[in-house]
Amino acid sequence: RAKARGGGVVEVFDDDLRARLQQRTQIEAELRAGLRGDGLHLHFQPIVALDGGRSCVESLLRWQRPGGPAIPAQDAISVAEATGLIAPIGRAVLALACAECARWDLDVRVAVNVSARQLARPDQLITDVCHALDASGLAPDRLTLEITETVLMDDMHQSEAVATRLRALGVQLEIDDFGVGYSSLSYLHRLPVQALKLDRSFIAGLPDDAASARILEAVVGLAHAFDIRVVAEGIETPAQLAAVRDAGCHAAQGYGLARPGPSDSLPGRLAHALRVGSPV
Ligand code: C2E
Ligand code: MG
Ligand code: MG
Ligand code: MG
Repeated sequence: RAKARGGGVVEVFDDDLRARLQQRTQIEAELRAGLRGDGLHLHFQPIVALDGGRSCVESLLRWQRPGGPAIPAQDAISVAEATGLIAPIGRAVLALACAECARWDLDVRVAVNVSARQLARPDQLITDVCHALDASGLAPDRLTLEITETVLMDDMHQSEAVATRLRALGVQLEIDDFGVGYSSLSYLHRLPVQALKLDRSFIAGLPDDAASARILEAVVGLAHAFDIRVVAEGIETPAQLAAVRDAGCHAAQGYGLARPGPSDSLPGRLAHALRVGSPV
């Protein structure tokens, strides 16, 4: 179709594609170098329990370029998935997140994002999780794995099997970015998950957007029926926090409570988030 519109369009397309390929090749080289050195860092963002339960901290990948801006997590992950680097990176993230959490003098769980490619290699994933727990001494019930909805739906049969094995280890499982994939109600009761994280696209319009408010209400009702907790992500304003609390969400996460940041500053950010999140 580009061709039909004339040669110029094809060239623009080629240039764009070439630039993107170059960028990916560049990131791949940086990831390889970073894996050998100390390029990989984790930031941590508090997830505050609104129901008196234990709070949590999500680990988020930060890839520091020597003397440059960090590579956005999503870019690093997609290049890692395309090149197979996700295996060593995923393993390192699990080990580091568990080690940090075990080291903190804080009563929190740690949540680690797991990619589709990791889930597609169940034996490797189980080995990596066991190793991260053994090496750190972290109690399994303090580790939560966040798996995106689309990934779980890809191969429901396989997901069910892996999830069951992970649950048997005692780790918690959560569905990330809930609502943006093709939500199927049937999988909620087939998968042994403890929580779902309502995608922040449903939070952004709160409290004024009536459609968002109804979706929130429906998801909370559904989760209650299955005895699953609901975490609201992307909370930026007090009004959004009030809306999700009133709707019955069990936990909240977002810039309005605390931003992601390095381990050193976590105690201060967590204390702040707990104050913001505590009922008035
Ligand atoms: P996610 O798991 O849904 O993580 C939440 C993202 O939303 C993070 O972006 C976080 O910084 C951002 N966020 C938190 N609160 C707010 C808010 O109030 N407003 C807005 N606008 N954003 C907020 P980040 O760190 O750039 O990560 C992006 C995605 O990259 C993550 O989305 C996750 O899918 C992926 N990711 C990050 N770290 C890892 C990792 O270690 N492994 C894997 N497989 N994926 C990771
Ligand atoms: Mg997540
Ligand atoms: Mg999320
Ligand atoms: Mg997300």
